[in-house]
Amino acid sequence: MRLRNKPWARDFMQAHPDALILEPETLKRGWHSEFGNAHPIHVEVGTGKGQFIIGMALANPDVNYIGIEHFDNVIVSALEKAIEADKPSNLRLVRANGADLEAVFENGEVDRVYLNFSDPWPKTRHAKRRLTHESFLRRYEAILVPGGEIHFKTDNRKLFEYSLVSMSDYGMKLLDVALDLHADLPEDNIMTEYEEKFSKKGQPIYRLESKFVTL
Ligand code: SAM
Repeated sequence: MRLRNKPWARDFMQAHPDALILEPETLKRGWHSEFGNAHPIHVEVGTGKGQFIIGMALANPDVNYIGIEHFDNVIVSALEKAIEADKPSNLRLVRANGADLEAVFENGEVDRVYLNFSDPWPKTRHAKRRLTHESFLRRYEAILVPGGEIHFKTDNRKLFEYSLVSMSDYGMKLLDVALDLHADLPEDNIMTEYEEKFSKKGQPIYRLESKFVTL
């Protein structure tokens, strides 16, 4: 993702604490209070410019959505979109690194994790940075309710193959796999920015749903 320098970003981000959380560790254990209800919490890691998480929040008012993005210059675009959508009350954007999820959420505080078009990190020596690496799966398992699910979409076949193996090695159960999501598009599919871009070019979109197995 191209990053333009946005010198005004910091002030803009601080001006909307009802939509963008800059110190999410302070809400650990308190996310349901933050939303003011007991609805399930779904988290997207690597939310980018926010189209998916905002679309989901508007389509599903009985679910709370949190979009996590670690770059200021990117999350401000998501914030602009959230403001255009009148800051849905069931949406929060969070500036954080997915590697720090356990500092942001209590064990079992989250009901589902979404990963959309995660950076592929193709070099083997960078495999640990992939959001479906075992070390990230361990973090998701910790913050998710027992049996919590991951829903993952990507255009990158190699990352998809890697993720299938990584989740399977971890002992996760695959619930659903699509090798060409747009060939038979579910009515409730909300497209991400990257999904729009790649599907317009005719590239297949891979998707899976998996869950952590409780013993
Ligand atoms: N999900 C969006 C979409 O599908 O259009 C954006 C995809 S973009 C390729 C990946 C995004 O994930 C980037 O905005 C990047 O900054 C963010 N990202 C990558 N690793 C991350 C991490 N460890 N924590 C938070 N965000 C991350």
